[in-house]
Amino acid sequence: MAYQAPVRDMQFLLDDVLQIDRYANLEGFADAPKDVRDAILTEGAKFCEGVLAPLNRVGDKHGCIWNPDNTVTVPPGFTEAYHQLVEGGWPLLSADPAYGGQGLPHVVNMAFNEMVSTANMAFGMYPGLTHGCYSAIHTGGTPEQKDLYLPRLASGEWAGTMNLTEPHCGTDLGLLRTKAVPQADGTYRITGQKIWISGGEHSMTENHIHLVLARIEGAPAGVKGISLFIVPKFIVNPDGSLGERNNAKCVGLEEKMGIHGNATCVMQYEDAVGHLIGEPNKGLAVMFVMMNEARLGVGLQGVAQAEGAYQAALAFAKDRRQGRSLTGPKEPDQPADSILVHPDVRRMLMDMKSVTEGGRAFLFWTAMYGDLLHKSPDPGVREKAGDYMALLTPVIKAFLTDKGHKHASDGLQVHGGSGFTEHYEASQFLRDSKIAMIYEGTNGVQALDLVGRKLAANGGRAVQGFFAEIDAFVAENEGDPALAPFTAGLASAKAQLQEATFWLMQNGMTNFENAGASSHDYLQLFGLTALAYMWALMAKAASAKAGEEPFYATKLKTGRYFVDRVLPETAAHLAKVKAGADAMMALDAAEL
Ligand SMILES: Cc1cc2nc3c(=O)[nH]c(=O)nc-3n(C[C@H](O)[C@H](O)[C@H](O)COP(=O)(O)OP(=O)(O)OC[C@H]3O[C@@H](n4cnc5c(N)ncnc54)[C@H](O)[C@@H]3O)c2cc1C
Repeated sequence: MAYQAPVRDMQFLLDDVLQIDRYANLEGFADAPKDVRDAILTEGAKFCEGVLAPLNRVGDKHGCIWNPDNTVTVPPGFTEAYHQLVEGGWPLLSADPAYGGQGLPHVVNMAFNEMVSTANMAFGMYPGLTHGCYSAIHTGGTPEQKDLYLPRLASGEWAGTMNLTEPHCGTDLGLLRTKAVPQADGTYRITGQKIWISGGEHSMTENHIHLVLARIEGAPAGVKGISLFIVPKFIVNPDGSLGERNNAKCVGLEEKMGIHGNATCVMQYEDAVGHLIGEPNKGLAVMFVMMNEARLGVGLQGVAQAEGAYQAALAFAKDRRQGRSLTGPKEPDQPADSILVHPDVRRMLMDMKSVTEGGRAFLFWTAMYGDLLHKSPDPGVREKAGDYMALLTPVIKAFLTDKGHKHASDGLQVHGGSGFTEHYEASQFLRDSKIAMIYEGTNGVQALDLVGRKLAANGGRAVQGFFAEIDAFVAENEGDPALAPFTAGLASAKAQLQEATFWLMQNGMTNFENAGASSHDYLQLFGLTALAYMWALMAKAASAKAGEEPFYATKLKTGRYFVDRVLPETAAHLAKVKAGADAMMALDAAEL
């Protein structure tokens, strides 16, 4: 596929919808005025289109190879591309200047990350996890740990990984067995096996910094006894030079249905030297920094894969001729019309386009709050940003990846039988996008997090704030005839979400199975409402500039499609939320 990064759409979001120049007083924003942002987007697009996208199928076909000396060979071209990424300074975009970063807003970095993830999702996971590792140490590390590890994690010279999963322990981290034995010198010896560790081993970087969850000898059982350790592949001497090879090895790779270019490693730790990060038994709190960042990054993968699937499907549809338009031949001189004339093909393409553009706005808007959380001088703004980040992270992760995979399937469907063959890239999008629904906490678990934890936090302050913000937008704009369908759709979706929230408060607290049974549909309803708000914001920005450029008229038409043909799904989700657990749990195990 000839990937074309959606630069214009990203500019629209940054310039017109989020208007990020209004935050020029915040750290890093003044360094990212429009001309700088445009240069980043244009150069980033060149790199992703020209270097990473051509390697997407190469990675899929070749995969990674495990070697008996415990090394891993990445697909051809990946190492050179990785070095180009590092030399170009791309991993440094939003990193802390204290550790060599450029300190630019996360929302700008988000745009670059989306391009990487569409061009080559498997490749993008290597720097993605490294950035997560950087953030966890940045938050939880001692000043010495930060000085030792952050500069080279920020630049991408070293790789970072995240080690939670064990063979018997996936979602339920309380079962974790990897043990940590304290040593007289203050270090720990880590022993255990971690599975499915993304990017656990490769030779694109000179060192790996593994963040490993383990239980200190004698620690309480369950999640209350889990600590976090830095376990470098090569021990880092106090002066930053590399010392001995640590006993942290990749003993095998998984054979997977997708993301073949990313090494999914079985990691064996045998008395490996580890350094505690944060307090003993409080490791999950620090790891959650990495996990929350990774969850937004995974939501981004949903949008990115849907974008790729859309571009591939559109290119195919423009080329493929079958049948005639229902209103008579559109190209009578040809043996058949392009399949673009068929409403059902349009349905699939417009579902993809409208949800992907709405999803991108949702991601950028949330990333903007991520910036405000860290950079705003106003405690009220920081509180609101923190509330939103906590509330919306599970929605971003699960809703956008559910849609990403669905749209990868729609994209394949547009191809007909050709999509089922490996001649086209459609099947790779379908295969690659599936994992995003599973890792970083399955989407089912995200929905439980939303319903069980996030809604009730601080007496429901976050969700009430979200409702109030939507109400204020509707009140301010419902008199504008150009926005009428958008404000009406948004008001209706928000009313349904509020009704579902009340239903959960009344029926989920007294019967937890009601909350569990309704959580998936509640999250979908939440995601649709959030996208309705994004489309209302985009419509407002586009209608203010309508006539200046065809882009804005197209935006408004795409938004109308979302409101008329996607948003009505809210009613079905509300009905399913209110159906509760009875029918779902009615069969006993023998009847299933
Ligand atoms: C390609 C790939 C890369 C990965 N990369 C990493 C990595 O880098 N680091 C790492 O640590 N891990 C990684 N993982 C592991 C991943 O995070 C786990 O697969 C995921 O957390 C789910 O755990 P599990 O597979 O054991 O499923 P299980 O926990 O066994 O879940 C099975 C099913 O039961 C459901 N379920 C489980 N518990 C509950 C519950 N309480 N309520 C409702 N439903 C529940 C789940 O939603 C799921 O549908 C990776 C996995 C893969 C496949």
